[in-house]
Amino acid sequence: MLPLLPGSPLFLRPLLPARAWALPARALMDLRELVSALNDFASPSLAESWDNVGLLVEPSPPHAVNTLFLTNDLTEEVMEEAVQKKAELILSYHPPIFAPLKRVTWGTWKERLVVRALERRIGIYSPHTAYDAAPHGVNNWLAKALGACTSIPLHPSTAPSYPAEGTHRLEFCTGTEHLDAVLSKIKDIQEVSCLTTFPARVEGEEQTRVSLNCSQKALLEVVALLSQNSLLYHKTEILLLQKPLLPHTGMGRLCTLSEPVPLSDIVERIKQHLRLPHVRIAVGRGRTPESPVKTAALCAGSGSSVLKGTKADLYLTGEMSHHDVLDAVANGISVILCEHSNTERGFLSELRDTLGIHLQNKVNIIVSETDRDPLQVV
Ligand SMILES: [Zn+2]
Repeated sequence: MLPLLPGSPLFLRPLLPARAWALPARALMDLRELVSALNDFASPSLAESWDNVGLLVEPSPPHAVNTLFLTNDLTEEVMEEAVQKKAELILSYHPPIFAPLKRVTWGTWKERLVVRALERRIGIYSPHTAYDAAPHGVNNWLAKALGACTSIPLHPSTAPSYPAEGTHRLEFCTGTEHLDAVLSKIKDIQEVSCLTTFPARVEGEEQTRVSLNCSQKALLEVVALLSQNSLLYHKTEILLLQKPLLPHTGMGRLCTLSEPVPLSDIVERIKQHLRLPHVRIAVGRGRTPESPVKTAALCAGSGSSVLKGTKADLYLTGEMSHHDVLDAVANGISVILCEHSNTERGFLSELRDTLGIHLQNKVNIIVSETDRDPLQVV
């Protein structure tokens, strides 16, 4: 290969002055491209069905994002910080819009957040329980407080759209002369999908095998239809469609420590990991601060419903009701409570680094400095 010299017709002259080449290789990302990358990082389909995740506030396109601002809670103080720091997109772990808004006025703080965001052309994205379930998410980060351990989700997530729609598959054979009548009646039933036919030979006779997916409710209707038409016989098969579990993905974690650790030592590890001077502890019945902890069930935020019924030496979460704490203690389970968002917020520093790699450092990612748990020990 020949060297390209300035005199050569193939020499390309830089379009920018020499000094500009030294600027950091940051580039803007279009909001839609960024949202797509965020959805790839942790799919919104991992979120609980009751949740409100994804892009919640979108300024009119095109919207270029240079600064992505991370916060656990989007309060009005945090919004002002995002405005000061010229963020174009806020990633708020908790969704600032949850209950539907009937109006967008200056009347309530949630509405003012939306007004302020749109006036300042700031988008708002919330991952919430999608990040709880993700293998590299909030609960995974919280488990690191315990030290060396293995962990599995307490409530594993299933693949969102596999193997197909419906909860059941039903297959049966029918004589060719009945086929059109049967199919037209089945098509009238709601919640039937993937209806297909293929030729079959039954005891030397040409027949058609019909296959369909359906909900449990539709299954009863299809079976009733077949029974009425004397079509339900030994060649009918009903399969329960089970979605496969996603590895290391789901709500909460059951952690098994590589070796038992006294409860009092676990408390110190948690304080250090969460950078907290105080936590609340309820020692399980028959246990002491010196009792060994081998298994711990945890859930970032408000963990009662996720932890309930789990056998473990310790429950670790942000908040639990008085009566749920009494239940756990009566069952010999110690409980450590750290306040709701203190079990979530520290994840943002880890997220800044992992998201930076995922987004190929195309945007500037900063973590809020004003975001904090509203409860303090005084
Ligand atoms: Zn929470």
